[in-house]
Amino acid sequence: MKILVVNAGSSSLKYQLFDMDTGAVLAKGNCERIGIDGAITHKCAGKNDHKANVSLPDHRAAVKEVLALLTDTSVGAVRSVGEIGAVGHRFAHGGERLRASARLGADEIAYLESIVPINPLHGPPAISGYKALAEAMPHAVHVGVFDTSYYSDLEDYAYIYPIPYELYEKYRVRRYGFHGTSHRYVAGEAAKLLHNPHAKIVTCHLGNGSSITATVNGKAVDTSMGFTPQDGVPMGTRSGAIDPTVLTYIMKKEGLTPEQAEKLINSQSGLFGVSGVSSDCRDVKAAAEGGNARAKLAVKILVHQIKKIIGSYIAELNGCDALVFTAGIGENDSELRALVCKDMEGLGIAVDEKINAAAPRGATVELTKAGAKVRTFVIPTNEEYMIARDTLALSK
Ligand code: AMP
Repeated sequence: MKILVVNAGSSSLKYQLFDMDTGAVLAKGNCERIGIDGAITHKCAGKNDHKANVSLPDHRAAVKEVLALLTDTSVGAVRSVGEIGAVGHRFAHGGERLRASARLGADEIAYLESIVPINPLHGPPAISGYKALAEAMPHAVHVGVFDTSYYSDLEDYAYIYPIPYELYEKYRVRRYGFHGTSHRYVAGEAAKLLHNPHAKIVTCHLGNGSSITATVNGKAVDTSMGFTPQDGVPMGTRSGAIDPTVLTYIMKKEGLTPEQAEKLINSQSGLFGVSGVSSDCRDVKAAAEGGNARAKLAVKILVHQIKKIIGSYIAELNGCDALVFTAGIGENDSELRALVCKDMEGLGIAVDEKINAAAPRGATVELTKAGAKVRTFVIPTNEEYMIARDTLALSK
């Protein structure tokens, strides 16, 4: 079966077309600047790449363009849209009700619309993308895959915040967790490498957004992101976890509105906020190497916080069989991996310096130093393939 995987953001729509009989990616691309002007990049195996500026006033226009390219005689991958049997839609948030990937219908969409207040950035574009595709492809099975659903089985003591319980009941304020599709994929791959479906695994998704998850028996038991993707380790522009009164104190001192305060911790903090250089880890590392003291500090804070969370999850799991690094920083930055794993022998973690430094990009590599108890891996994430797998399973 051919399956289209779609990830709609506020001004973008990324897609990949899989042939699930072989696992091959037949075509992929990205619509950008939706609602601004519009640009599309499209690649189809064995054909010339296609790049164009096209008017994309909304997600409906983007979907029309994507389907036209996928069926185009010179750059397309299929003769007609009818050849695509199912569409997997990535949703950042499935709330408390969508606890696993599910076929999408009116009920599911009504529920997703009802939780837009707790998912204001990702919810509306994902729903628009779904509606446009459901209309254009009524013959196909449409499946939603939710980043939060990997955390559906967290114990209540792991997801309830220690604030008045009534606020959870009234507003569903709780830890939801994000990046679950990525953590589920790499934890699953690690369990296969260990030949142990019950393994205790700590997965570090370190990218522009970062989160760390503890998994045992194939189920997440804790994760660093919370009610929103703001919690946990510092990120490109997000602070990660801070004492909550830091924010209220600054709000009072600077006369900030709630929106301004959110902007402060969401888009002016993290690597960018501390270094003053960039939100991109490569730029910050380059500045640190050039002697920039604040850039050096930003990297130290990042490493310190990652170590703290890994350690706390090893305590929660009562040990650890595997530590996994993934996403932009986790997959590519061997130096950061080395810094995180430094002085962790007490927890059974040690990486082989040479193997770590030489780990080729885009490959699964075991970094474990001879004799170390915890096996450490780099495993490239593949959220799209995970979505396609779930979609296939629900299309049968
Ligand atoms: P992602 O959100 O997964 O695309 O990851 C983006 C982050 O990965 C950015 O902070 C990049 O600086 C970082 N990144 C990508 N490639 C490298 C690299 N070769 N070395 C260090 N960081 C990298």
